[in-house]
Amino acid sequence: MSDLYCGGGCGIKYQDFPADMLIQDTLWELICPTPLDGWKTGGVLCPNCICKKLIELGLTRVEVIVDAVELMGKGGSYDS
Ligand SMILES: [Zn+2]
Repeated sequence: MSDLYCGGGCGIKYQDFPADMLIQDTLWELICPTPLDGWKTGGVLCPNCICKKLIELGLTRVEVIVDAVELMGKGGSYDS
């Protein structure tokens, strides 16, 4: 599997995210990066970029789920 990078422009690899940060689908649709070929859900954003984009929209109190377990479970599997 090729490396997946944050779509927010910061250049962080998905495997280097501290955790997956999940937000409501309706909010995600507002901030998700432009869909990439073969990635139907529109890419990923690191927690930093999720926060930045939400705040840019004036959304300063948003419920999130931090899912570190799933990411850690994939640890190293994306190494090239
Ligand atoms: Zn980012």
